[in-house]
Amino acid sequence: MSEPVTAAPVESLDPAHRLPLTFTARRRGKAPRHLADLSTDERREVAVAAGLPAYRADQLSRHYFVHLTRDPEAMTDLPAAVRDRLTEALLPPLVTEVRTLTADRGATIKTLWRLHDATTVESVLMAYPGRNTVCISSEVGCGMACPFCATGQMGLTRNLSAAEIVEQVRLAAATCADGTLTGEPSRLSNVVFMGMGEPLANYNAVMGAVRRLTDPAPRGFGISARSVVVSTVGLVPQIDRLAAEGIPVTLAVSLHAPDDALRDDLIPVNSRWKVGELLDAARRYFETTGRRVSIEYALIKDINDQKWRAQLLADELNRRGRGWVHVNPIPLNPTPGSMWTASTRAVEATFVDTLTKAGITTTVRDTRGSDIDGACGQLAAQVLEGGER
Ligand code: SF4
Repeated sequence: MSEPVTAAPVESLDPAHRLPLTFTARRRGKAPRHLADLSTDERREVAVAAGLPAYRADQLSRHYFVHLTRDPEAMTDLPAAVRDRLTEALLPPLVTEVRTLTADRGATIKTLWRLHDATTVESVLMAYPGRNTVCISSEVGCGMACPFCATGQMGLTRNLSAAEIVEQVRLAAATCADGTLTGEPSRLSNVVFMGMGEPLANYNAVMGAVRRLTDPAPRGFGISARSVVVSTVGLVPQIDRLAAEGIPVTLAVSLHAPDDALRDDLIPVNSRWKVGELLDAARRYFETTGRRVSIEYALIKDINDQKWRAQLLADELNRRGRGWVHVNPIPLNPTPGSMWTASTRAVEATFVDTLTKAGITTTVRDTRGSDIDGACGQLAAQVLEGGER
């Protein structure tokens, strides 16, 4: 939930426009407050506190979530006198493009964004037949310290605000809408939280963003909850919290090993919540939401790709029921200097075959952007959503 909005004291109001100046103040490290941090009622409260009718906030929301713009010049239904001040107060610039790379004949666009405090995050937009997917970041860096992941080596700098997350989605949607991605206007259909950061470690901001993504237009983008994927390396209490939200997003568990002995090394948070506890929580998520859970499994040569581990994974999943889970093995795209590399195709095929024979639905994920150093600091940035090979 976003922070409650309180009316600014009279002295702090700009006398010309009566907008609360606190909304433009920049706190060090913390992103300026933005429309996308607020619920519909909170946005209206801001408009009223600024001496404007509540419906002005709705008009601004429509420009942002439907027309995908924060440009005051485009908001011709708003009086010119209040346009700039309203956008300044509720749509401050949050991200600035630093660098954009394309790959896969233009079907993959990776962008590095600079935030208000000069920190940077990445997002990757990918076109597939029938859908467009953006992979977004939820934190600057990551505190989970997974040793195979470039982002994990950075440590955590800070959490993103809900609006900083939403801005990555708006800009991706605009890139689809203006025809840049596919050569003709198209729609952003899928959002995956698999960029930099552990989404469930920044729970409130991520949930605020999920609400903006799934709220019907013009309150939000109106993206189907089933088309939003929230990943986790295994913060068990937050998985249960997510299940109780009543927004049935798809949960993706980055498992990478079916046994604690190996997973303790690959995913340090496994020392807190073991494989069994994590899979139990994933099963509860399925029972509560009815959404089949995705198990992400990066295939790392000679580390976790043995046939016996595929069988153990199948046994652990089947022990908790049938038809509740889908496994996505992912060929590792190693980060520079990494001692790990991808499994061979033959080993990958055996791994998949073992799972399939055990009755586990399995799809090897497409990799994207490998020729543009496609790593979004981590595995999943290259990998996501679809593309059976
Ligand atoms: S793999 Fe994910 S959770 Fe682990 S360090 Fe990288 S970004 Fe964080």
